Amino acid sequence: MGTTLAEKVWADHLVRKGSDGAPDLLYIDLMLMHEVTSPQAFEGLRLAGRKPRHLDQLIATEDHNTPTVDIDRPNPDKTSALQLSTLEKNCKEFGVRLHPLGDADQGIVHAFAPILGLTQPGMTIVCGDSHTSTHGAFGALAFGIGTSEVEHVMATQTLSLKPFKTMAINVNGTLPADATAKDVILAIIAKIGTGGGQGHVIEYRGEAIRNMTMDERMTVCNMSIEAGARAGMIAPDETTFEYLKGRPHAPEGELWDQAVAYWKTLKTDDDAVFDKVVDIDASEIGPFVTWGTNPGQGLPITANVPVPEDIADATKRAAAERALKYMDLKPGTPIKSIPVDTVFIGSCTNGRIDDLRAAAAIMKGHHKAKSIHRVLVVPASSRVRLQAEQEGLDRIFKDFGAEWRNAGCSMCLGMNPDKLVPGERSISTSNRNFEGRQGKGSRTHLASPQVAAATAIRGTISSPADL
Ligand code: SF4
Repeated sequence: MGTTLAEKVWADHLVRKGSDGAPDLLYIDLMLMHEVTSPQAFEGLRLAGRKPRHLDQLIATEDHNTPTVDIDRPNPDKTSALQLSTLEKNCKEFGVRLHPLGDADQGIVHAFAPILGLTQPGMTIVCGDSHTSTHGAFGALAFGIGTSEVEHVMATQTLSLKPFKTMAINVNGTLPADATAKDVILAIIAKIGTGGGQGHVIEYRGEAIRNMTMDERMTVCNMSIEAGARAGMIAPDETTFEYLKGRPHAPEGELWDQAVAYWKTLKTDDDAVFDKVVDIDASEIGPFVTWGTNPGQGLPITANVPVPEDIADATKRAAAERALKYMDLKPGTPIKSIPVDTVFIGSCTNGRIDDLRAAAAIMKGHHKAKSIHRVLVVPASSRVRLQAEQEGLDRIFKDFGAEWRNAGCSMCLGMNPDKLVPGERSISTSNRNFEGRQGKGSRTHLASPQVAAATAIRGTISSPADL
């Protein structure tokens, strides 16, 4: 019987096969680090008197706690400032390469690494961060790990793990012109639920996935974790190789040819069997928006907010009642009639150059609606920011009335100065809409950059077709 892409990468990294139900020992090619989940790992090494085993396979950045304005001034938030200075101290002491705030390669951990060509097909990549699944867009087996595992990888460059189950999600056919990668993943999560991928590595397949750019593939893989999966993967192809060629850490010359020859072997065999298979018809996907407090509570933008009494399943009905109460929405309200206060375009899901180009194309020649308090456009990395400025996108955003910020996680989570105030409602291109995610009492609707931009123009949740 053939093997899946995930099983191939696993097999190629097997240091020792576990026997009698014991976990396997897996070699880890790359560990990405940031200020939030690394301090305990460094402290653990320090207490044990150990050094990192392979310094050149560790790399750190600053993202969660960084301010996105006045970055040359002292951080106004004492806790954030301490997190950042601790990372800087630790990286210096242990010799870990760090791209700190102000560095040209600083950015969200899942954005800066692909841009540098550090993320490559067939690698095992880990980070103390759940959205590490993003890197699976290159055909890497990439997943989030806990703090004690971060310490283990630093010390040994290996991880003890039981094999994941495998799941295929086939997005068959072509997408309508107004459907984006974000709509695809929101529609998938709405279909399979936030626990639908639990314990599995999802491999996204099918024509609609093959037609996506690397930025779009990263958007899809990024949110695998929101379906409960351990990782998401897409088999590498010419789109992947073209993206990587010439990047600072990509192989060169003969090594490039050798690498591509290996990368071309990284695909699921025709006779491989997945533990689970889900089929999606791409032609049925359109702009999608969440109405509730988890990423699975989403609907096409043309729908109405659910009426709990119409939901047969008691658990889902109770969840909908609670979500509607928190979101301050009346059952049956048309999604397109919901007014928002703030628009956030950014995050490791949708803060890449393709996303900024898409938002700018819609905003160009318009101004934000008077009812919108603020529009934040936050590039996922400093390189994305530079690229956008070279293309003049920053001018379009500023003319529109948006705030053009420095790179970081920003309003994706309430861990830095970019927060919503209690009761404030946002449309956000990020990946989580949990209660309080964007600040205490915040209300979040997840959507694509295109829907966020159209909403900023009209003031109520809108798609570009409404303009
Ligand atoms: S942008 Fe959001 S989801 Fe992504 S790494 Fe930062 S906090 Fe996590």
